[in-house]
Amino acid sequence: MSGPNSDYDPVEVTPLRADEVEAMRDAALAAIEAAADLEALKQARLDHAGDRSPLALANREIGALPPQARKEAGKRVGQARGAVNQALAARLAVLEAEHEERMLAEERVDVTLPTDRRPRGARHPITTMSERIADVFVAMGWEVAEGPQVEAEWLNFDALNLGPDHPARTMQDTFWLEPAEAALVLRTHTSPVQARTMLTREPPIYVVCPGRVYRTDEIDATHSPVFHQVEGLVIDRGITMAHLKGSLDHFATAMFGEGITTRFRPSYFPFTEPSAEVDLVCFVCRGTGTADGGAQSCRTCRGEGWIEWGGCGVVNPRVLVACGVDPETWTGFAFGMGIDRTLMFRHGVEDMRDVFEGDVRFAQPFGVEI
Ligand SMILES: [Zn+2]
Repeated sequence: MSGPNSDYDPVEVTPLRADEVEAMRDAALAAIEAAADLEALKQARLDHAGDRSPLALANREIGALPPQARKEAGKRVGQARGAVNQALAARLAVLEAEHEERMLAEERVDVTLPTDRRPRGARHPITTMSERIADVFVAMGWEVAEGPQVEAEWLNFDALNLGPDHPARTMQDTFWLEPAEAALVLRTHTSPVQARTMLTREPPIYVVCPGRVYRTDEIDATHSPVFHQVEGLVIDRGITMAHLKGSLDHFATAMFGEGITTRFRPSYFPFTEPSAEVDLVCFVCRGTGTADGGAQSCRTCRGEGWIEWGGCGVVNPRVLVACGVDPETWTGFAFGMGIDRTLMFRHGVEDMRDVFEGDVRFAQPFGVEI
């Protein structure tokens, strides 16, 4: 490296000649312009503006010049370095903007693309409605009772006063299990749970039994070989039809709202005496049978003002005897409703097949009830 030398002719000092400085500057500007990415620009900065770059070395030579030559050489080198730094800053801004744009494009997330996550399921409305019904009775101190779906013929029929010649025992209505000697059926109603309850515990009895039942029906919009019932049974001292009516009115109000009560129509069931069909005040037209201020008839009840809901009655003493309960001491009532049917008219479901196909899109709108 050169030291101070008053004999130096600045024009003769090669690194500080105007054309040399210009060449250094142009080489630097060309390298900066050619830098295609931030990495290349970093290298260009090191090569042309770093401590060991030609311009930095030339700058150091200035100190060795005679004082009268320093000003011009300093100005020349200073301008060249300024131009290089300016070009670096400009190129950096451009490359950073490009980089950012590329990252945005590469890391873009299309939120409308289908996801491969498993979709959420939904509890089936039959399940949630069964639980809701059970809750109504549990709140009154009743218990939930359950029984097997493959049931003994005797419990499904005989114990309930359905004699061997009863039409419900024919092959058309009942799924029989093989071998026939086993005398097993797919239960045709939840009533055998009543018989099981009376056989296994002492009165007083207050139970509600929701469950799945089977009949040999063809599948159509209103029939299915598999459906759901809820059965209620009370055995206590001094139980009358009034207790039955009060319990069902409470059940109807809890399910369908204030003011929705029931009416009884005389009927016949082998396991109750007297027996009644239960109708519900139509919860849509509230019993008027009309819609749109009287202009049309109500679709839910077909203009009747009432909706058929189920069957009920005072437990037949023959059933009590068959199940080991003394009819002189105890009386009771029983009722049964279709849960699927209740779900259908409560929610305006028109085709029973929708209830059984298991499509999650059917179940989801009912919401998750715990
Ligand atoms: Zn109605």
